[in-house]
Amino acid sequence: MAREILFSDFECDCGHCSSFCEGTVKECKEQSMKLPVSLGDSEKDEHFIVFRRGRAIEIECPELGSVPLDAAAEKPKHRTRRAKDPRV
Ligand SMILES: [Zn+2]
Repeated sequence: MAREILFSDFECDCGHCSSFCEGTVKECKEQSMKLPVSLGDSEKDEHFIVFRRGRAIEIECPELGSVPLDAAAEKPKHRTRRAKDPRV
């Protein structure tokens, strides 16, 4: 699972680490409240961090495709509903 290190560094599953200025990340988070934003790290194997609703949700990896970030794993789990009443 990819992860967000500190507030401005992101580590991809492939081992690539994207570092940004904290201000840049903050700006993207703010912008993403309205529209999804992707932020490229401008490196050789460029990775894009995708922000949505004020937070980083995934990394677009040139090798692995989209890798969800830890924070995205926080979505509410579906509670197991009671199975159908077994009465016949
Ligand atoms: Zn990667």
